Amino acid sequence: MKQIIIITLIAAGAFACAAREKPEMKSQEKPRAVAKTEAEWRKTLTPQQYKVLCEEGTEPAFTGKYWDNKESGVYRCAACGAPLFSSDEKYESGTGWPSFWAPIEKGAVGEKTDRKLFMVRTEVHCDKCGGHLGHVFNDGPKPTGLRYCINSAALDFEKGETDKP
Ligand code: FE
Repeated sequence: MKQIIIITLIAAGAFACAAREKPEMKSQEKPRAVAKTEAEWRKTLTPQQYKVLCEEGTEPAFTGKYWDNKESGVYRCAACGAPLFSSDEKYESGTGWPSFWAPIEKGAVGEKTDRKLFMVRTEVHCDKCGGHLGHVFNDGPKPTGLRYCINSAALDFEKGETDKP
């Protein structure tokens, strides 16, 4: 019985990305502008990127490449390249994850309720491909009061202009 449960959990996790192509499997999901199969995502993402983006994993604090990045530029989705955050809204949260008080533009990221780990949190994902990015909390700075706590592994930083797309 224990083995069946473990196998079921592994299978459910492994097909998290593929499930995005079938929105009927997840009530809060919707069709994405970029939709790939699990095999296609595995081909283009590193194992760590896949773990975060497709399996809603979290990198350990203070280990990612961007939590302390102070350069100007745009943070894109590591899976599909969509612009998600700008250095203009990045701030020092002290958490060890890249933190922003707003996405680069309204609608760039989507949200859903996350009840894992015995907590109720708001998960955020790339609206274009559905890749998991991190969570948003209500303890951020002004003007929004929001803290988008994002995994570096879900982002690709493009140094340069910070203009909105
Ligand atoms: Fe994306």
